[in-house]
Amino acid sequence: MTTLKILLMTALIVVNMAIFNGNLKFNSNSMVANKVESATEEPTATVIPTATAAYHVEHVIQQRFEKRSDNVRKICNARGNKAASVTKPSELFDVPSIGLLWCPTFKAGSSNWLDLFCKANFNHKIYEDCDISTMRANNPTTRYLSVPADEFKYNKVMKEELGLPFMTVRNPVTRFLSAYRDKWEMARSPSFYKKRYGEEIVRQYRSVDPSFSEEDKEALLAEAGTVILNRQLGSLRHEDVARNPYLNPPGPTFKEFVKWALNGGMDPHIMPYYQSCAPCSIDYNILRLEKLNEESGYLFSVIERSYLNLDFRMSLNVHGKTDDCLLEYFRTISKHDVQLLYNMFFKVDCELYSYPCKDSISKGRQFLARMGKLFIVHPNGSHIYCCKECKTPIAAKKDLLDRCKTLVDGQGFLFSAGYNVKESHVSERIMGAAEEDTNIVRYLSCLKCKAYMGWRYEYCENKEHRYREGQYLLFPGNLCPGK
Ligand SMILES: [Zn+2]
Repeated sequence: MTTLKILLMTALIVVNMAIFNGNLKFNSNSMVANKVESATEEPTATVIPTATAAYHVEHVIQQRFEKRSDNVRKICNARGNKAASVTKPSELFDVPSIGLLWCPTFKAGSSNWLDLFCKANFNHKIYEDCDISTMRANNPTTRYLSVPADEFKYNKVMKEELGLPFMTVRNPVTRFLSAYRDKWEMARSPSFYKKRYGEEIVRQYRSVDPSFSEEDKEALLAEAGTVILNRQLGSLRHEDVARNPYLNPPGPTFKEFVKWALNGGMDPHIMPYYQSCAPCSIDYNILRLEKLNEESGYLFSVIERSYLNLDFRMSLNVHGKTDDCLLEYFRTISKHDVQLLYNMFFKVDCELYSYPCKDSISKGRQFLARMGKLFIVHPNGSHIYCCKECKTPIAAKKDLLDRCKTLVDGQGFLFSAGYNVKESHVSERIMGAAEEDTNIVRYLSCLKCKAYMGWRYEYCENKEHRYREGQYLLFPGNLCPGK
């Protein structure tokens, strides 16, 4: 490769990275996440927009990749290559048009890779319905390697025939939580309620009033199932929801979900990486989700396809606030269960991919201790909005994104950050007449005096409102100017 070529490619990476950093500026939550995730000692790249600096960036990322591979080899050797105790990957996708061999790791950027492969392989029409099952079934240009049951050997011949092997990982603790929130929490995608064991989990692990007979319980479960699958939750009266223990909340709680997982429940979205990718058999290029834009840019330059762009954005449920989430969810399960969960789901992956998982959990617990003492945060900036009742700071003008009219509630202010607010369980809220006005929100109350403030959008059915996801809608009538 000529020096000029290297410079050109690396210049592209710098552009990608600059865009990525630009995104971070608009999402303070992501910045928090970034800070947490980068806790392990890894070489970091400073972005300076010159060709020399670009070369430096590429070099730094290459070192990172080598360091990660070395660590995987070290752990595999130390465990007598049984880190996996599994020597075959469950599935691999060879994409010759791009020159990559992909081991899918769900809830770790897999849909972005799928998008990229679909775009690379299909004409636009087919691309519309391109998903993982299409890729598995009848994809003309992707070789799907459903690996046979006997031991998989990534031998020299395969190495020459197949693309460059790579996989994406993220902090295993965060990934587990993100999978729960995204797929099960309130049966957001209703298909998960039945297909992905949501109903089964609730049936098995929800404690209900002992005066209910078995028939009562089955009837209530059936009723809950109908409501969830037909997305009627938002139109029910509060009393009707409260009356049915299986609708309150509608999906499995984190505690119930963890019980299920500890009792042998498994799903690709929470399956440890080592169990699906055979990291001791295949020498992968390991990308971290937390640095996916710059690292995918590097990967594309290695396979000489720098024109590719993964365009990865942290999706809503991954959205920052990792500390808060860990706190909020892990405090609902016992210390004993945390330890079991760590041993069964996180330990090996955390060692293989050098994630400080124990820190992530204990950070959550420390945060919890602070919250217990009513830890009030003061936002920076000169224009602050406070709780009208108790004058606790709630928002800052610098975070104001938009003013939104909602049909029922009047005008609200949309902020990228909220301070000193407590979030409720997720709840469905229909904002208008059409079904597409359905949103999933968490109601917000003042941490100190519990006054109602508004909500944070988790999900907006209406595509035009998607930008609101993750943001805070506060009502000016509940706020007053403060310092
Ligand atoms: Zn208050």
